Amino acid sequence: MLTSRPSARSAEIMARARARFPGGVNSPVRAFGGVGGEPFVAKRGKGALVWDADGNEYLDYILSWGPLVLGHAPDVVLEAVSRAMQDGTSFGMPTEREVELADKIAERMPHMEMVRFTSSGTEAAMTIARLARAITGREYILKFEGCYHGHADAFLVRAGSGVATLGLPDSPGVPAALAKLTLTCRYNDLEEAARIAREYPLAAIMLEPIVGNSGFIEPLPEFIPGLRKIADETGALLVFDEVMTGFRIAFGGARERFGVTPDLTALGKVIGGGLPVAAYGGRRELMQNVAPTGKVYQAGTLSGNPLAMAAGLATLGALTQEVHDGITAQTGVLVQGMRDIAARHGVPFSASHSGSMWGFFFRDEPVHTYDDAKLSDTVLFKRFFHAARRRGVSLAPSAFEAGFMSSAHGDAEIAETLTRLDDALGAAVAQ
Ligand code: PMP
Repeated sequence: MLTSRPSARSAEIMARARARFPGGVNSPVRAFGGVGGEPFVAKRGKGALVWDADGNEYLDYILSWGPLVLGHAPDVVLEAVSRAMQDGTSFGMPTEREVELADKIAERMPHMEMVRFTSSGTEAAMTIARLARAITGREYILKFEGCYHGHADAFLVRAGSGVATLGLPDSPGVPAALAKLTLTCRYNDLEEAARIAREYPLAAIMLEPIVGNSGFIEPLPEFIPGLRKIADETGALLVFDEVMTGFRIAFGGARERFGVTPDLTALGKVIGGGLPVAAYGGRRELMQNVAPTGKVYQAGTLSGNPLAMAAGLATLGALTQEVHDGITAQTGVLVQGMRDIAARHGVPFSASHSGSMWGFFFRDEPVHTYDDAKLSDTVLFKRFFHAARRRGVSLAPSAFEAGFMSSAHGDAEIAETLTRLDDALGAAVAQ
């Protein structure tokens, strides 16, 4: 098995990139800060595979951080985008494909009666905060420790542990006066959420219905129904940030999985099939508050871009219930295989999945909060990550990120992945 790989070309590109971009990247996590070593310089992808600039081949479980539910460069998406492209790349005017994609989303998520497309999840979440504040006439927002909702000022707020913290900015440049309006609470801590909602007038309670941004953390059974009740009792809007979970954790997303309907929802990733698309939406009477029918302003030159709409339509069109169920089953095989490997090597381990989103921690005890996640063995994770990479398996470069799966990961790809991961974990443990 190949355990060292050529890297000269990637290193050369990264040296040039470092002169042009902070850290050599256009989004921080790509710099491999969580695991060290040279970042991945991607050159090409097809199906379950991705190749770096040196020609090394990897079985890919990053999948562009979630969007590529059909794998890299699926023919249906390539064809749809090239067809759309012949008619023009952007109009800045309404097009039929936008309506078709909104229809398709509403078919699976009937609570998305109206949507507005944006180009990034950050924009969608940022606008939800504005909209919720405008609708309720309140300014506080409750978010949960370890949840990520993009990089708008309102969400870059340090997660306080235990008690509600009046938010401190997580990043220089975020005004303290604004950060103060974002309250944080431990994920899965219903009592604390209730206390905060009683104490502060909340515009919104916002969460990742399954967390993918501090590892893969599922809600306890009472958590989401409990938040719905708290929101109803206190007049806050309940917001699901489904940028990552949408069209992954269940065919119809979190509403289907948990039987709880949010007031507003953010979507992204899968709905753009690898092109820049996100959306926010919900009940008609709430969405009517957005300009031009309402006063809450939000806009975008490239919003609803025809190529992006075509990619999203092709992706959701191909992602039938049957295909979704198939990917879910394959994800189950991968996760069980990883549990078996960890047991064989005698390392503390837990892994789980919902639909095609999955994750693991080097820790035996259940993980319900970001604090729990931080108790996992991150040193072993780093060794395992690099050992896997040397063996041609591309995992998310952080112990606190979810993994993804695609319809292109068939039996053979998963079996090969497990063989390589077995060897990688052996090497990581022996190191
Ligand atoms: N919300 C969630 C749950 C996310 O996972 C992300 C991105 N990973 C975002 C929002 C932000 O989306 P984007 O990177 O498209 O701005």
